[in-house]
Amino acid sequence: MQAGSELGRVAKATMDAGNLVGDDVIIGIVRHRLCRPDAQRGFVLDGFPRTVHQATALDAMMDGRGGLVVVDIAVPEEVLVRRLAARRICQACGSNAPVEWTTACGKCGGPLMQRSDDGESVVRERLKVYLRQTKPLVDYYSARPTFRTIDGNQPPDVVTAAIDAAVDAAVAGVRL
Ligand SMILES: [Zn+2]
Repeated sequence: MQAGSELGRVAKATMDAGNLVGDDVIIGIVRHRLCRPDAQRGFVLDGFPRTVHQATALDAMMDGRGGLVVVDIAVPEEVLVRRLAARRICQACGSNAPVEWTTACGKCGGPLMQRSDDGESVVRERLKVYLRQTKPLVDYYSARPTFRTIDGNQPPDVVTAAIDAAVDAAVAGVRL
């Protein structure tokens, strides 16, 4: 959207209308982005693919580009609900508040508030949709030697180290 591309305009119009951007628009955006020079030696995708349809499209994009390492960071639902419910943003400037900001925004001093889509019932509904889409995705990838599951219910530095180790092991195990 920021780059003002045609696909970005389609995505923005869809979101402004309150709809979720469809698979094919998302796939087009990713395909376009992966063609740029800085993605030629490798890249990290976070939050894509989210559906099996997107995953099959990604496999087609990877044709001739080397291997794909897939890392699933698993966190129990109750922990996710707690984490998301604790998430705050600044009412004035919209910054995401790290845990150190307890009462006011560390950038502008504005009041912190919960994101409108982070209420517990909304979060549980989002998780339901996510799990419905993601379980088939895990099934899609789980038989591959480059698929790894990480326990995400650990301190961030431990999760980071586990991701590093998983990617190293996957790369070492399969010629990319
Ligand atoms: Zn602020």
